[in-house]
Amino acid sequence: MRIIRVRYRERSFYAAITSPETLRCLNAEEGLPDEIPLAEVELLPLVRPSKVVCVGLNYHAHARELGMAVPEEPILFLKPPSSVIGAGDAIVMPACSERVDHEAELAIVMGRAARFVSEADAPAHVFGYTCANDVTARDLQKKDGQWTRSKSFDTFCPVGPWIETHVGDERALGVRALVNGHLRQDGSTADMIFPPMALVSFISRVMTLLPGDVILTGTPAGIGPLSEGDEVSVEIDQVGYLLNPVVSEGPADPGAVQ
Ligand code: MG
Repeated sequence: MRIIRVRYRERSFYAAITSPETLRCLNAEEGLPDEIPLAEVELLPLVRPSKVVCVGLNYHAHARELGMAVPEEPILFLKPPSSVIGAGDAIVMPACSERVDHEAELAIVMGRAARFVSEADAPAHVFGYTCANDVTARDLQKKDGQWTRSKSFDTFCPVGPWIETHVGDERALGVRALVNGHLRQDGSTADMIFPPMALVSFISRVMTLLPGDVILTGTPAGIGPLSEGDEVSVEIDQVGYLLNPVVSEGPADPGAVQ
């Protein structure tokens, strides 16, 4: 089932896409049992996470392209909720960076609070999957020596276009990035060092995952730069297709600290 968040008649709720033109409200308390025309709703951000937890270096081929050793445990970092945008929203390249990269990633959306869950119990805490782009200011990542600034600019976490609640096997999904229609990344979650449910379990032993929280599961090989005017898309088998244009912030403020 494909799920989006909408506003309709001054009410906000999650809805299932039932046809190319119709939705069904998933919140029984709203008292809206009938099909709702897609044209009559306003699309809302897919998720409002308390945090976006990300995993660095989780594909064997990506570790090889960076010349880095395979980590013994998942490497975690965070993106702020303010970096999240939806399908079709513009990625804004900050003036203080010379190189902004795409990173196509499978995103897990949490459905139930999770703390100290086992790998076997993890699926019961997951709402579904969506596409994400872990946009990264690569030069600032190297310059700073840690990742917070490079990963955290507003618009650096495109997520969408919907939450897919059922995939056949999350350990065997093609993950691709295309820039202006040209294939840049072409991997499979089968190449992950730590598979999705192992990540949910591992992260839940560090912090409480709340409903709506998002986990970005790492990117396959083939990361590369974006330019103003590009259109970047993330495609994931059985999940969907996330397209975002790329714009430039404009000239840097000469008085800004860099
Ligand atoms: Mg990443």
